[in-house]
Amino acid sequence: MKYISTRGQAPRLSFEDALLAGLASDGGLYVPESWPRLSDATLRSFIGADYASVAKAVLHPFMADDVSAERLSDIVDEAYACFNHPEVAPLVALEDGHYLLELFHGPTLAFKDVAMQLLARLMDDALTRRGQRATIIGATSGDTGGAAIEAFKGRAAVDIFILYPDGRVSDVQRKQMTTLKDANVHTLAVDGTFDDCQALVKAMFNDVSFRQDMSLAGVNSINWARVMAQTVYYFTAAAKLGAPDQPVAFSVPTGNFGDIFAGYVAAQMGLPVAHLMVATNVNDILARTLDSGVYQTGDVVATSSPSMDIQVSSNFERLLFELTGRDASRVRGYMDALTQSGRFEMAGDELTLMRALFGAARIDQQQTLDVMRQVKAEHHMQIDPHSAIGVGAARQAVVADGVPIVSLATAHPAKFPKAVVEAYDEQPDTPQRVVDMLTLEENFIPVANKLADVQALIRAKAQA
Ligand SMILES: *Cc1c(COP(=O)(O)O)cnc(C)c1O
Repeated sequence: MKYISTRGQAPRLSFEDALLAGLASDGGLYVPESWPRLSDATLRSFIGADYASVAKAVLHPFMADDVSAERLSDIVDEAYACFNHPEVAPLVALEDGHYLLELFHGPTLAFKDVAMQLLARLMDDALTRRGQRATIIGATSGDTGGAAIEAFKGRAAVDIFILYPDGRVSDVQRKQMTTLKDANVHTLAVDGTFDDCQALVKAMFNDVSFRQDMSLAGVNSINWARVMAQTVYYFTAAAKLGAPDQPVAFSVPTGNFGDIFAGYVAAQMGLPVAHLMVATNVNDILARTLDSGVYQTGDVVATSSPSMDIQVSSNFERLLFELTGRDASRVRGYMDALTQSGRFEMAGDELTLMRALFGAARIDQQQTLDVMRQVKAEHHMQIDPHSAIGVGAARQAVVADGVPIVSLATAHPAKFPKAVVEAYDEQPDTPQRVVDMLTLEENFIPVANKLADVQALIRAKAQA
């Protein structure tokens, strides 16, 4: 399988080259040249199978030229052994025909662990075989940094540097980044905002000699391997509900469109996905796009579901590529318009195609609280605000009679204690390993919001 850019002007790459490159050199995103199809017999073999077995079958076609089935098998087994639930992603029944897919049993209690644990091992394996090293640099407003650090800690071929805004992340989030003792992990407390951290990371990637000297690599949500890893739980959830004989719908709390695009990929691979519901908070650019065909950025509003507070949904470019019939010059035109005027308008047939599979709902702050309370009252469990938005949107989805709908629960309530206290007037049920972590000694490096200072520090500490 080869990988091509959504903008059509970057070299065609192997799986591993796309994995290590992240963004394509023309500014586009890598996608497989074609979608591998799984037969109904393969889908039937997923009924009753464990998560790791399904992952191996679903993922191998994407990398068969580069990674042997045996190698992938070891990597998958190791990646999901660190999850705190034997099913990795258990499915829990809500009301009739509505299910919650719990994706938060990984080490940092958010669904990003599912992809990051796999991505880190695939990268480390590729680099080791090539006799290379890489330096991972990322900025975080909270969640991604912890998931990346947990995944890359102790990997032999990688140093990881995460920049976070000092004093602006929650205690749990900071401790998830600062209580590790591994020599390849470096957490930088930047005297600035999240935007400052992002600007520093961007400047380092744009500094060609620094990028080459340090072999910089990124792990943000545009990396193809992250989307790929997320397709697996669509298969495991649907198999539990009777696929391939039974179509299944999904409702997905959406920010950068990576998680829900994985659902689209599962459908292209042969899974009978009846409907995909884009669940957004008041930052509703995707819901507005589906309604009007106009993709237009606005101001970001801070909500109780911060991981979905976004203005530009980067992975939407991958869907656009599909909706245009893989017309890279058309995608380029849309992206140029977005840069120049903050908006573009999709063609009528593209919008029709999108509406055939996707719906959308916008769930505001009050509705989020209402859903959190109602799920507790009826099903005796706390859910986090992101997951509540998925549940709220699922209830607005229009699906055929008898088609079950699965809401993705993307974070554990313990990750968002403020929202939990507001909704339930009680503390979240916190897993013991998080309670233990809160008492560990912290390690971080304070640094000024100055590019030269940050670069000097990374040069001094990295082994690449
Ligand atoms: C990242 C994240 C999301 C959004 O996922 P996308 O792939 O960016 O759409 C939703 N919920 C939580 C808790 C997240 O961390």
